[in-house]
Amino acid sequence: MLKHYLLTPGPTPVPSEALLAMAKPIIHHRTPQFKEVLKQAVESLRYMFQTKNDVFIFASSGTGAMESSVSNLLSAGDKALVIRGGKFGERFAEICQSYGVIPINIDVEWGEAVDPLQVEKILNENKDIKAVYATLCETSTAVVSDIKAIGEIVSKTDAVLVVDVISSLGSVVFKTDDWKVDVAIGGSQKGLMVPPGLAFITVSAKAMKMVESSTLPKYYFSYKAAKKSVDKDDTPWTPAVSLIIGLVEALKMIKEETLEGALLRQKRMAEATRSAAKALGLELLAPLAASDAVTAIKLPDKIDGVKLVKTMRDIYGVGIAGGQAQLKGKIIRIASMGFMTQWDTIVAISCLEIVLKQMGYDVEFGSGIKAAEEVFSK
Ligand SMILES: *Cc1c(COP(=O)(O)O)cnc(C)c1O
Repeated sequence: MLKHYLLTPGPTPVPSEALLAMAKPIIHHRTPQFKEVLKQAVESLRYMFQTKNDVFIFASSGTGAMESSVSNLLSAGDKALVIRGGKFGERFAEICQSYGVIPINIDVEWGEAVDPLQVEKILNENKDIKAVYATLCETSTAVVSDIKAIGEIVSKTDAVLVVDVISSLGSVVFKTDDWKVDVAIGGSQKGLMVPPGLAFITVSAKAMKMVESSTLPKYYFSYKAAKKSVDKDDTPWTPAVSLIIGLVEALKMIKEETLEGALLRQKRMAEATRSAAKALGLELLAPLAASDAVTAIKLPDKIDGVKLVKTMRDIYGVGIAGGQAQLKGKIIRIASMGFMTQWDTIVAISCLEIVLKQMGYDVEFGSGIKAAEEVFSK
């Protein structure tokens, strides 16, 4: 028998409170009962995003909301500054290109964070840039960027700042309004403890004004349609009723723990993971800008990362992620986001020690665990 543990940076485990709520018979969405659910969901999401702006809920994965932030704000031929330091930054540039928007890319070494001054420099040189696309936690490299500093810079220009916080929401400190972020994008299956299938987007007044002049095609993901509905506690199309009911339950749990409490719990897990990696003689991919939602650990050349991840998952039931694109086989990523506690971290590190040893890496059993326990006992 295998008992499965899920420590991937999305999807993440879903608490039984949310699972059971989603198993209830479906209710119709044009009813006072569902309006109440939607109202609660939007209120709780405002808390997660730390914003007073509107929050729209889409029935899509996070990428749908990323796409909407191009199609609703911009027009063909517009310029957008895109910070590319990994898979997800690259996705923004690809979306821009598919819509005929011209991306001006800042290419950041994978494993490093962007220098906000570089953003300032490019904005100064290109006054016609309409939007800046950034990622708070670049999940492919486990890097966090200084969005607060970037927000300060972009807010002084006519451009809007769009930030992908899909893997950060509820897991990494983020403040939409305080940090002057115009558009923030979240997803259900990372830190929010809900299955995949929902995307969230919050839009500032400055960004809503840009929607007026955007001529790119949009229909399903129209912010105008979403705004008209959300003002009436409604959605333009049939919402993902069960997922939204699950979301309300999951966010109730975060509110009970408080956002600060949840962030601290995950920070300790990430610290323990980083500390264990070092104790095992392994290097971090992002030692200087490490995310508390996920940790990327470099593997020694002789260790095949694809095989390591497969063995941990299929032989031992412990799911972690490998590297993407050029990092495939070279790193592993262990999440500390969402419905996880320190005991999940201990399981992952223990399993990692065993499989590394089996693959021929010199492991002193317990050294990673010891380092983690030292963090947890503080
Ligand atoms: C998971 C993730 C996404 C979106 O992915 P979907 O598969 O569309 O949900 C986007 N950006 C980041 C940073 C992510 O971690």
